Amino acid sequence: MLKNAQGKADFGKTDNIVDDIMIKDPFCETYFPKRNGVHFLVDGKDLYFCSTECRDKFIASRQKKNS
Ligand SMILES: [Zn+2]
Repeated sequence: MLKNAQGKADFGKTDNIVDDIMIKDPFCETYFPKRNGVHFLVDGKDLYFCSTECRDKFIASRQKKNS
């Protein structure tokens, strides 16, 4: 029933209103509107970052961990 994977889904609004949902950047842990996010698909999961810079740093940190 809940479409939002971030655990903040139920505000008593309709499921159609998703444009201005707030999500957290997994790199810098800043909250920002999903519609402004930088999308990145990793391991089949959709991630959103507040900026391309955070996305690039996140990718770099993953590569460091895995090597
Ligand atoms: Zn960020």
